[in-house]
Amino acid sequence: MKILIAADMEGITGVVHWDQVMPEHNDYSRFRKLMTGDVNAAIRGAFAGGATSVVVSDGHNNGRNILIEELDERASLNSGSPARLSMVNGVDEDVDGVMFIGYHGRMGSQNAILDHTWSDERVSGLWLNERAFGESGLNGAVCGHFDVPVIMASGDQTLCAEVQDFFGNKIETAQVKKAVSRMSAECLPPAVTSSLIEEAAKRAVINLRSGNAPKPFKITQPIKITIEFEQSEMADKAAFMPGAKRGADRRVEYTADDMITVYLAFRTLLALAR
Ligand SMILES: [Zn+2]
Repeated sequence: MKILIAADMEGITGVVHWDQVMPEHNDYSRFRKLMTGDVNAAIRGAFAGGATSVVVSDGHNNGRNILIEELDERASLNSGSPARLSMVNGVDEDVDGVMFIGYHGRMGSQNAILDHTWSDERVSGLWLNERAFGESGLNGAVCGHFDVPVIMASGDQTLCAEVQDFFGNKIETAQVKKAVSRMSAECLPPAVTSSLIEEAAKRAVINLRSGNAPKPFKITQPIKITIEFEQSEMADKAAFMPGAKRGADRRVEYTADDMITVYLAFRTLLALAR
């Protein structure tokens, strides 16, 4: 029973502002410790539920946030960037289930702490086959490509609703804060959230072992990805990618059968748009 824990930072316990999740700000050192704490709670829960192996992927910013010296010694850490599968690097057919720790609502969500989709500066909207997606859906579809379900997630109440919408109500969630705007939330302290996360992670693995977990999330092929960029110039540049098409306004579209190709194309389009 191998579990991959994919960790982001905006949905971590206590986080309500960019300054807390960007390395150049003083607060960051506190919040990377809290991120490590949320991840450790998920690792404890995974093993308590019956996992035999846990790999953690640090998926925020440059992938260098989690403090390895404080990481539960039963887990290993995928750290650094770039990595081919980015936020879910490490997922493959040998993984039995994935947990999303510290995830956040998609760009444009209301009452969602630091809502964005991959890049706050470049992406104003993302659709797969015309359905609005955030990072949870996008990364969940990459896991689904390998027939791996997303079994648990933590973040604010809007993220918890988003993952239930995408992956079904069998997903276990740990709500660590209640957002009242983009940068304000009623936050539970780590002493409380660590047990919420641990218990949800434990239940998720128990459900998985008893055949009661969400199904792998798969997108109907062909898969059309549409990105709406923040500025027209970004769309102009991204549309230079072979196979990409300029859509309405600031949108660029790309279609492929394979979800991994779509994921790599998404990140290439974003890189071009810089
Ligand atoms: Zn993110």
